[in-house]
Amino acid sequence: MSLLISALAVAVVGCGGGSSSSSSSSSSSTSSTASAAETGSGSSGETETTADSSSSEGTGAIKAVWQKPHGEENKVGYELLKASETRYLAKSLASAFELPDTLTIKGVNGFGGGPFYNPEDNSITLPYEFTTVVLGVVAQSDPEESQYEWGEAVGAVDSFILAHEFAHALIHNFELPVLGREEDAADGVATALLLLASEGSVYAADAAEFWLNFSGRQDPPQLAEYADNHSFDRQRADNILCWIGGAEEELLVAFVENEVLPESRAVSCPGEWELLRRSVEQVMEPHLEHALNLQPGIGAEAEREEAEEEKKSAAER
Ligand SMILES: [Zn+2]
Repeated sequence: MSLLISALAVAVVGCGGGSSSSSSSSSSSTSSTASAAETGSGSSGETETTADSSSSEGTGAIKAVWQKPHGEENKVGYELLKASETRYLAKSLASAFELPDTLTIKGVNGFGGGPFYNPEDNSITLPYEFTTVVLGVVAQSDPEESQYEWGEAVGAVDSFILAHEFAHALIHNFELPVLGREEDAADGVATALLLLASEGSVYAADAAEFWLNFSGRQDPPQLAEYADNHSFDRQRADNILCWIGGAEEELLVAFVENEVLPESRAVSCPGEWELLRRSVEQVMEPHLEHALNLQPGIGAEAEREEAEEEKKSAAER
């Protein structure tokens, strides 16, 4: 498997929110007819913006548009994204909150500025090559692990990133108050959402490990990185670990024993988590229309749906 460690050199993880992002796709509006057709392939003209979009699917509150991947690097990322629970997580999040406007998930070629939420058209862009880079970081950090384990870790990171971008969407759709930096708030909401799922702490910890392993790109940090609206990768990792540990005492003890998190920070983590949990609950509660269903069953359901889709499109051919 050819991995793209070299791509790390250019990596900048965008992800926007309030700022108008320099979107890689020039799309301004998605087509009006978000047909619910889950035709695996060949749905042409669904979006004027992506003539080469391979498929598009709509579920009312959420719509996904996947560009046809070009070249090996995009293909790897595309396959990983499709195999991960990203879409199902997006669906269950969107239906739990009943967003006032359709949220569009765009899978696009290239790396761009990394994944981002664009409030202008209420869309989340997931560049394929970013996921390929995540795979590279994961594989380089744990070379002894199997490809299956790499895939799981990539899926966890993708889930975290989607939850983070979804947090931006919640903030802008519901005009939620944000005291502090929006990017830190989005990490907090993402962690809190993931911790609601069973095994969610594993997902969140995988995300933290990714930011930790990715942080080498900021060594030493450039001036622009100090000024960035994101915290440093290393800080993002430590924050996530602190919330996970704050929510689960044994994990916090383990983080300190294994020197993953310094004692000096760990002591405040239970309080930090409590504040985050309380804040997320208070701010989100009025907008939660249905119970959040982020259980692992999602994955099983995803596989069933996928199998049915394939059967359907095979029959149509
Ligand atoms: Zn963000």
